[in-house]
Amino acid sequence: MSYAIKVDGKVKLQDISTTKHNGIEEDDAREQTGRLGKELEELQELMFAAGTHGLLIVLQGRDTAGKDGTIRGLSRYINIQGCHVKGFKVPTSEELAHDFLWRVHPHAPAKGLVSIFNRSHYEDVLVVRVHELVPEKVWKKRYDQINEFEQLLAQNNTIIVKICLNISLEEQEKRLMAREEKVAKAWKLSVGDWKEREFADAYTEAYNDALTKCDGDHAPWYIVPADHKWYRDLAVTEILVETLKPYKDDWLRDLEARGEEAKAELAAYRQSLETK
Ligand code: ADP
Repeated sequence: MSYAIKVDGKVKLQDISTTKHNGIEEDDAREQTGRLGKELEELQELMFAAGTHGLLIVLQGRDTAGKDGTIRGLSRYINIQGCHVKGFKVPTSEELAHDFLWRVHPHAPAKGLVSIFNRSHYEDVLVVRVHELVPEKVWKKRYDQINEFEQLLAQNNTIIVKICLNISLEEQEKRLMAREEKVAKAWKLSVGDWKEREFADAYTEAYNDALTKCDGDHAPWYIVPADHKWYRDLAVTEILVETLKPYKDDWLRDLEARGEEAKAELAAYRQSLETK
C-alpha cells in the first residue's frame, strides 16, 4: 500500500499528515486512480459473479472530510447495480429504543454485493462520546461490541475495510467557507458543523481510541490524508484494489468450475434432444 496509512498499534491522529502525497503530482495521481479504478471495476464484477463474499466499506471522517466526494469518486468504478450506499444520521426514536447496532446490521452487504457506509456504527463511539449522549460506562463497552459485530460479519465472508478521511482544521475551515460562498454548496451549510469545531480535540481523542481499539486483520482501519481530493481518491481506490486482489484467484477458480458445470449440463441437454 503506497498512499494510505494502515493503522498499526496506537493511533495519534494529530501527528498524522493530512496532505502527504508521496511526491506524486496531481496529474499522475489522477491517471493512476483511473488505472486502479479499472482494476477495481473488474474485481467487483468478479466478486459479484462469484457470490461468495460481500464487501463492506466504512467511511468516517470529520465534517467536510470528503465522505460524499469519495463515494462520488467510487461511483465511477463501482457498478451501482451491485452496491448499496447507506448514510447514518442522528438515530430516530425507534432506533434509539434498540441497541446501537440494530440499525446497522440490515445494511451489511449480502454475498456478491458492496455496502458503503457514509458514517457508521462508529458514530456511537465518536459523536456520542464527545457529546456524552450516553454515559461513559455505556460507550466504553461499545469498542468490544463493535469488534464482536465485525468479527461476526468477517466470519460470514464479509470483507471489511474501514477508512478514516483525515483533514486538517485549516482545510475544513476553507471547505466550510466555500459552502457559504457557493450557491451550489449552500445546501450543505450547517451552523452545527461550525459548532462542532469547538470539539475538535475531543473528536481527535475519540477517533484515536476507535482506530486503536477497533483495528484488526479481519477489519483493518486505514487513514487517508484527505486535504487533497485527488490524493484521497487515489488512496481510497488503491486500498480497495489491494483489499480485493487476494481473493481474485479463488473467485476465478470458482467461476471456472461453475462454467464447466454449466457446459456439462448444456452438453447433456443437447444429447438428450438428439436421442429423443
Ligand atoms: P453528513 O453525514 O453529510 O454530515 P448530516 O449533516 O445529516 O450528514 O449529519 C449527520 C449527523 O448525524 C452527524 O452530525 C452525525 O454526527 C450524526 N449522527 C450519526 N450517527 C449518530 C448517532 N449514532 N448518534 C448521534 N448522532 C449521530
